[in-house]
Amino acid sequence: MMKRKQKRPFHVMIIPTLGCPSKCSYCWSSEVGSPIMSIDTVKEIVLWLKDFRDDPVTFTFHGGEPLLAGADFYRETLPLLTNELTKLSPNFALQTNLWKLTPELADVLAEYKIPIGSSLDGPMELNDYQRSAGYYEKTMQGYKLALAHGLNVQFICTFTSYSVKFKEDIFNYFRENGLTLKLHPALPSLRSDEPDRWALSPEEFGELLIYLLDRYLENMSEIEVRNINDYCRCVFTGRGTVCTFVDCMENTFAVGPDGSIYPCYRFVGMPEWKMGSVRDHPSKEDLAASPAGVRMNQFKEFVDRECKSCKHIRYCRGGCPYNAMAPTNGEINSVDPHCKAYKRIFDEIGDRFNQEMMGSLGLDNAGQQMGAAKGKRPGIMTLMQRILAK
Ligand code: SF4
Ligand code: SF4
Repeated sequence: MMKRKQKRPFHVMIIPTLGCPSKCSYCWSSEVGSPIMSIDTVKEIVLWLKDFRDDPVTFTFHGGEPLLAGADFYRETLPLLTNELTKLSPNFALQTNLWKLTPELADVLAEYKIPIGSSLDGPMELNDYQRSAGYYEKTMQGYKLALAHGLNVQFICTFTSYSVKFKEDIFNYFRENGLTLKLHPALPSLRSDEPDRWALSPEEFGELLIYLLDRYLENMSEIEVRNINDYCRCVFTGRGTVCTFVDCMENTFAVGPDGSIYPCYRFVGMPEWKMGSVRDHPSKEDLAASPAGVRMNQFKEFVDRECKSCKHIRYCRGGCPYNAMAPTNGEINSVDPHCKAYKRIFDEIGDRFNQEMMGSLGLDNAGQQMGAAKGKRPGIMTLMQRILAK
């Protein structure tokens, strides 16, 4: 019998512009005066992908601020990608601060049931201090409009070296407002004079993750902390389930406003990381052979050597290559600097699981709750059951 080829989903990030109306203090990815992608370029994306590969694709519109492209851009782009690439079964997502959402845009996004990721760093005062004055109100207005049009919005919360001091307020804000918490540690901004001013250190990030694990377990009926779910899934299934914890090279690409192809949205606009152009319809092999493609694969090989003795290597894979290589201008001499934080949370989840297993031996389900019942530690197996049941 002929063996069926396994499908390998891939991800194409479309960056309609690097421009953004906000001026968040720690931003590293927007660019003043960036052009808007033309529909001709979208047509070239379609032509490029027609023969690129045969797997399911997810398109994420990212920025800069992708809504700056306007309603007409999405009215033309979404049917093009959907109808011309049916064999790739396209799915969509969009990452926006929601300021530029209009009823027209909301209608077209709702028609394609596009899930939206937005950004909010906690209560208004804190959010506006580290993003920009008036940010919170503008995002909330867009949020209300999105909800009124039936759109699904989830927020990403960036923790900085400043906001981490208010972690309890931030956690409570998300819990009290019924919002799912997905967090992101602030990276050194390579476009700023003070690159480390807001960056969260690996030690602070590790502490924060343990804190959130405990608070999550204590409040499981009221909140979901997406990252903790992801770390648990890694440990329990032995496989990474988000890009940071898989070999993202070869399965993730980003297309900049002018049609240039990069390994990920984080590299867009950095000429040395350009892999090709959609206009040339490059194959997988062409992209892999570009200097940027070669560099990404060298990172993978570096991780195989560097993390060889780490018990988390299978589902961590050295973390994010951008985090590892951007600060060194592409030199490969370390893994993701957040390694310490990843190790800390993976170890903690694994240790708690083992302790609870030991405790439950011979006690059936009652043992799983032992930690919580004795007031020592909330149980992690309950969380695992919930995650795996999804
Ligand atoms: S470079 Fe980092 S952010 Fe980009 S796809 Fe890879 S792991 Fe994800
Ligand atoms: S935790 Fe650190 S050492 Fe282990 S695989 Fe991840 S990056 Fe490598």
